[in-house]
Amino acid sequence: MLILERIPLIKNILKIIIIILGSARSGSTLLAKTIGGHSACFTLGEINRFNQEINNPKTHCGCGKKLNKCDFWIHTLKELNIDFGTSVKDNTHDFNVGIFKQITKISKFWMLIPTILFGKKYKNSDIENEIKNTFILYQKIFNKTGSKVLIDSTKGLFRGLILQSRSPENIQFKFIQLIRDGRGVLNSEMKTSYVIRHNDGIYREYKGRINKNYKRTINSWIYVNLRNFVILKLFRNQDTLNIKYENFTENPEKYLKQIYSKINLEYEVSALNLDEGINHILGGNASRMNAKKINRRDDAWVNKLDKNMLKTFNIRAGWFNKLMGY
Ligand SMILES: [Zn+2]
Repeated sequence: MLILERIPLIKNILKIIIIILGSARSGSTLLAKTIGGHSACFTLGEINRFNQEINNPKTHCGCGKKLNKCDFWIHTLKELNIDFGTSVKDNTHDFNVGIFKQITKISKFWMLIPTILFGKKYKNSDIENEIKNTFILYQKIFNKTGSKVLIDSTKGLFRGLILQSRSPENIQFKFIQLIRDGRGVLNSEMKTSYVIRHNDGIYREYKGRINKNYKRTINSWIYVNLRNFVILKLFRNQDTLNIKYENFTENPEKYLKQIYSKINLEYEVSALNLDEGINHILGGNASRMNAKKINRRDDAWVNKLDKNMLKTFNIRAGWFNKLMGY
């Protein structure tokens, strides 16, 4: 009897963190929002940008409110004993979670190799606090929401592998490598404004950043996807699902079933209704607020992408796009 009771107990304490990987503009926010529609999941969003987001009084939460007016984050910050900043430059409080270039500096890069190859525990005094704080934040959200699964759409592969190597025994990491047709990515990068549907139902347009170097976008798209594909295939195959954005939007049910079965959850059809329920996604694009349903594949690049840009893309990256089946 005792033994029988212990089995579900062990299952219950196992938590999962899904990290969505891929290049920028690949649809990770939409995918993360959709997965988070399951009753056992909670989507954090691009939590690596936690500090920048809570210090930016203009930024919005996925629920449509200004982040510093959202009850969920107000309470979470209070419980963590930290405050919202008053300007993007106000970075005074001490709760950094951001793991960025500190780990890929040439002098530090070698330290990553045992972690990539053998999953060895990564230690680097430059980011000890960031690692510790990330797990404090994960744990806080697990406890607060009672979720079994958190979705982190921060797209850094090395950050994901570092966190996996440092995870406590009751937390497992899974990776989703999301790839999108490079021409679609490039077209999306060229947009100079975006629209947000606020919770008063009104749509407002905001200026985005302007991409001045599209060749860099192309190079980075190849680098990120090729690197992720090879490393995950060779060293994290068991923990990884590869998903094409176009396939996902074409048949979301099929891919959601794959994702949920990978983490031992029953599929819930309500996940497809993005307008149901509230999310508190932090960071990512406006689809965290806007998307009400999943639209079929976005082929806007066919008509909108500049012909010269397309030509450059084909010369530099056409081979890789083809290799990926586009
Ligand atoms: Zn919110």
